[in-house]
This record gives sequence, structure tokens and C-alpha cells, in this order.
Amino acid sequence: MKVSFFGASGGIVTGSCYLMEVGDLKVVLDCGMFQGEEKIEELNYREWPFNPEEVNFLILTHAHLDHTGLIPKFVKDGFKGRIISTDATKQLAEIIMLDAAKLQEEAEKRNESSEALTRHTGPLYTKEDVENTMDLFEVHPYHEIVRLRDNFSFRMREAGHILGSATVEIWFKNSQGRERKMVFSGDIGQTGARIIRDPDFVREADYVVVESTYGSRNHKDKSATLLEMLAILNEASRTGGNVIIPTFAVERAQEILYEINLFVERGVLQGLKFYLDSPLAIRATEIFRQYRKYYDEDAIALLRAGDDPFSFRGLFYTQGSKESMKLATETSAVIMAGSGMCNGGRVVHHLKNHLPNANNHVLFVGFQVPGTLGRRLVDGEPTVRIHGQEVEVKAKIHTLGGFSAHADQTDLLYWLRSFGHSPKEVFITHGDSVNREGLAKKVVEELQLNTHLPNIGDSFDLE
Ligand SMILES: [Zn+2]
Ligand SMILES: [Zn+2]
Repeated sequence: MKVSFFGASGGIVTGSCYLMEVGDLKVVLDCGMFQGEEKIEELNYREWPFNPEEVNFLILTHAHLDHTGLIPKFVKDGFKGRIISTDATKQLAEIIMLDAAKLQEEAEKRNESSEALTRHTGPLYTKEDVENTMDLFEVHPYHEIVRLRDNFSFRMREAGHILGSATVEIWFKNSQGRERKMVFSGDIGQTGARIIRDPDFVREADYVVVESTYGSRNHKDKSATLLEMLAILNEASRTGGNVIIPTFAVERAQEILYEINLFVERGVLQGLKFYLDSPLAIRATEIFRQYRKYYDEDAIALLRAGDDPFSFRGLFYTQGSKESMKLATETSAVIMAGSGMCNGGRVVHHLKNHLPNANNHVLFVGFQVPGTLGRRLVDGEPTVRIHGQEVEVKAKIHTLGGFSAHADQTDLLYWLRSFGHSPKEVFITHGDSVNREGLAKKVVEELQLNTHLPNIGDSFDLE
């Protein structure tokens, strides 16, 4: 089998896309959007490095945009095969791709898109392309071995990253007809995360592709993170300030609601109103309600006790943009809005309103890609440019590391350790240069395994 790395490689985190070729079978794993700096977003417009018409299957690890964001373009450009994922991934991918199509069409209309978009004609794809994409989906449950051809089978295992997320085990026949196994980690979650179950451990593989988003760092302690969040929220309650939480719509929004629900229900947080100001996050929350079969023991116990984690005193779901605008006059309010990295969506307006006031807080609960507004705020820039205006940053900026949906260095090494000495090669992807190199060093030193840090376009023959 030949494997080629066409995204989330060479120190770029986003744009996950890998091609596997066995005989005349071509399988792509993930087809994500490149996000962040202009020169990286430019990659969304490159020629496909393979002919979409010749690809037989597309397997998805999970619904995040950096893994699904280019699928409608792939379909528009000729892919006619099957798209394989879990049921929850299919539903979440649909709302994420529809949202991406909408954002691109809106950006096009307002002509205030990034350089990468304005230099090209038209959005990458439209709502109709997303609808055509949905016809190609085929869902499979976790743990089922699916044979695509005599020389190629796969199985999805729980990755613990977001609802429906999977690690993918692949069995293929090498040129001598011997069976070999390759494992794609997908994005791996933190052990002990809320709502969804922990990542599965895979015991054996000849080749492993592992993500490295936090390959050189460990997260702050989760309990400390929660106490820090509680302290910030209580301060806002005392001073009448507002708290803006730039929120990834899928998983993070629901986890934050889950934690705030516990604070409110247990009486340690009072006097605040909470707004989930994101149609996408509201829709994602509905999908979370549908897939209780994927909840972990804690979440199930909570439901059994009659506590709905997505509903509590003072929580409002704001659908319409008029209601969203009205939030500008609120006090003692917690506003959760997307996008998670502040490169679009309602949160941008809220930041413009709230950043100049020292009484307000901005609470970052997720990874911020370089080049995004979120990253500039996290990096402590004193002024930022929003909608062509210089905005002073007086509000307090907080970064709560413990909420990450990604395994940290210790978790990644722990996950890799379960393979023992079986892998001949560990390919490290989905990390910037510091993180992928940091993880590679540890994998060599502590696990005595060979590592490869592929660049975009690299191919390897696996025997
Ligand atoms: Zn992800
Ligand atoms: Zn990812």
C-alpha cells in the first residue's frame, strides 16, 4: 500500500487529508479545510493532488471542519464514491459543511473575506454542493469490521475527541499478499472529558499515523481550569461585566454548558444570564441530545437523576440575529458564540463591543490557530483590527487550557504505548513544528519507535 500525506503535514495543523492506494483501490481519509494564515488558506484552492473521480471511498474520522471542510468541493470536482463515517459524524458534518457554505457565500457578498477568498472567484462550494455530498454518506457503527475489498478492511474505534469521532484501524494486503495493519489516530480526546467516552486503546499496528496538536505540551489540570472559570464567572456576576466565550459549536459548547449546568444546579454560581448565541451550536446541541448512546457514565448518571445538562436556570438559546444584536446592552451576561477562533461569526461583533471595556472578560477555551483574531488576543496584542477598525483590548483575556478536546503529550504517549513495539513506523501529523517535533523526540526516547514527520505531498510505500 502507498500512503500519501496531502494535509495536516509539514507543520500545518489543518487540512487533514491522506490517500491510500492498494492496487487500483484508492481510499482517502478525511478531506479537511485549511484554516489560519492566508498562505495556508490558499491551499484550499490548489489543484487536487489526485483525481477525485478515481477515488473509491472517503473515510471520515470526525466532523470538524479541518477534517470535512473540503468534501463538498471534492464532490463538486468529481468524487462519486461513498463517504463512510459514524452516524453522529454524518449529522454533525452536515451542519458544519452547511455553515461553512453559508459563511463563504456571506463573505463573498460582503466582500470582506480574507485575501485568500477575494483573490479567487466564488466560494469554494455552495449549499447545493453540501446537499449532493450528503447523498453519498454510508454510516457504520464503532467496532464493526467493514470489508471494502479483499485487500482492504477497516474498523472505527472511539477517539474520545468529539461526538462520533473515530480512530480508524485499516487492514490491507502488501505486494506479497501479506496482511498489514495501519492505524490513523484521528484527533484524540483527553481522557476524562465530559459527556463522551474516553478514547479506545488499540493494541497492535504495523504503521501508526498520530496527531500532535499538543505533542509538546501538557494541559493545565482540569479541576484547576474549572475553578478558574468559576472564579471569572463569579467576578462578572459581582461587577456586572460580561464574559465572552468564543465557542467551537461542536463538543466545546456542549461541554461548557455541561460544566455551567453543574455550577448553577449546585448553587455555586448565581446572578448571571447565559446565552448560547450560535445557531450552529444550538443545532449541534440538538444532535448531542439525539446521541445519548455515546455518552459516558457520568453524563448518563446525570440524565438518570433528571438533570438535563443543556438546560438550566438563566440559560437562553439565541437563534435570530436580532436577538443576538440585543445582547450588546446586557450586563452580567455570559455570551457563548462562534466561531471558536473568532475568524467569523457572531463572536466578532461581541468582541468589537466588549473588548474596549476593562470590566469585561474574554475566555478562550480552545486552540487558536496562528493568523486568527483569537490567536492575536491570546498573544496579548493591545489593539486588534475588526471590520476595518482598530479596537483597543481593555477586557481581561483568559486562556483556559484544561478544556482542550485534544489529548496532551502525556495522553498521546499513553495512547501510543498501548501498541507496544509493534509499529515499524509512527507518522506524526496534525501539529505545528514545535509540537510534532516535541512528540517525535519523546516517541523515540521513551517508546523506542521510529518516527517520520511527513511533509505535504510525501508518499511512502508500506510493506
Ligand atoms: Zn477535531
Ligand atoms: Zn483536527
